[in-house]
Amino acid sequence: MSTSTPASIFKLEASEDPLRVFRDEFVIPTNAQMKATAVAPELENEPCTYLCGNSLGVLPKRSKQLVEEELQVWATRGVEGHFDHPHGRDWMHIADFVHPLIAEIVGASESEVACMGTLTANLNLMMSTFYKPTKGRYKILCEARAFPSDQYAIASQVVSHGFDSSAVVEMSPRPDEYTLCTSDILDVIAREGASIALVLFSGVQYYTGQAFAMETITRAAKEQGCVCGWDLAHAVGNVPLSLHDWDVDFAVWCTYKYLNAGPGAIGGLYVHERWADEPIRAAGWWGHDPATRFDMPAVFARIGGAQGFQQSNPSVLATVSVLGSLEVFKRAGGMQPIRARSLRLTGYLEALLCASRFYVPVAQVNELEQAAGKTGVTIITPANPEERGAQLSLVFLPTGRGVMPRVLKELAERGVVGDSRKPDVIRLAPCPLYNTFEDVERSVHMLEQALESVEREGIRN
Ligand SMILES: *Cc1c(COP(=O)(O)O)cnc(C)c1O
Repeated sequence: MSTSTPASIFKLEASEDPLRVFRDEFVIPTNAQMKATAVAPELENEPCTYLCGNSLGVLPKRSKQLVEEELQVWATRGVEGHFDHPHGRDWMHIADFVHPLIAEIVGASESEVACMGTLTANLNLMMSTFYKPTKGRYKILCEARAFPSDQYAIASQVVSHGFDSSAVVEMSPRPDEYTLCTSDILDVIAREGASIALVLFSGVQYYTGQAFAMETITRAAKEQGCVCGWDLAHAVGNVPLSLHDWDVDFAVWCTYKYLNAGPGAIGGLYVHERWADEPIRAAGWWGHDPATRFDMPAVFARIGGAQGFQQSNPSVLATVSVLGSLEVFKRAGGMQPIRARSLRLTGYLEALLCASRFYVPVAQVNELEQAAGKTGVTIITPANPEERGAQLSLVFLPTGRGVMPRVLKELAERGVVGDSRKPDVIRLAPCPLYNTFEDVERSVHMLEQALESVEREGIRN
């Protein structure tokens, strides 16, 4: 975006902003609870400026209520809760309450999704099913800077099939750039497609906030006969998804980021219906036909579709936590209105940052660093709103000199909660279900105060 776009075009007045009432559906920690020691006394018991929903979403009141209800059912009904539940949520079928809601969020049918497991475990499960290397077609195409857990998983899959790291084709941004060009990804797929077994990227990159062209990349991968999977950790609940229509083969996600289901919450996976009868390589009783599951037959009969991959009976507490959050998404009208508000909040954040005297356009960073010393901030997330979700990733200048940790600390003292990635990045993500335009204003104001003190005092430790 151009630095001259006025911030005011993004801001919604209360009367044009129906989703703003959803903030009341969440419990946001106060400044005092977050140990923000430098806020005005009258703000101590006010909600902090929480811009960290990309890392851990805040608690939906509905999730709290549902978890408390389940504890009560456990206390009063014991094992009977599996079949005869006072709120009609028989534990036997608890995941089935989540399936229609999560299917809407990812753009799939109910039978293409499963509420289960955790992200990395599901990723390994999907790769052990869909990564079937042959002598000629054995490579996995991914990013050089993928989330480390994904890199470990990919490497372990390749090794378990007797290949070495040369089977992993890692893509990096061009020199002096932070994000990948779609055309570069498409070129590699076109050039090396015949030897690629699996194309596996993240929907939204955790570090840069880049949203990949999922539909275009999937189509190119499929045209070359590759399997295409996506890690949606930072995409689910953040950007609109149409996994089925995009012809994605499989996807995995966690639910504690934009889906607000709580630390370590239960994850999920998607498998395209074309694979509905794919043999299950790691079977368990929860993937068995529920009609006969409790007859305890010796032979496994898979549920058709994604739910055949379920292994264990799921944690009810974790499942109702995600259920409560997804009910809020549903009441807000689903991803279309949520995304519309997200575009405005993030556009507003970007415009205010660009208007700051500390802002340096990313293309000028290298020159400036050579000239040395200007205290500043740049944005490495793509400027095109179609190529990002809620998050902006800020790099603090000069890089490598400890500006970022100092700013992070100053922000925390002022009640602005973001998160950092070493050495120089702070990620801020206004979440459309609970953040406000005032949160965005406050965060930029506090960021400027923090940079002013760095400029004035240098880095003190
Ligand atoms: C958050 C995140 C993870 C975390 O994995 P868990 O198995 O949930 O601990 C993995 N990969 C990516 C890309 C992530 O963003």
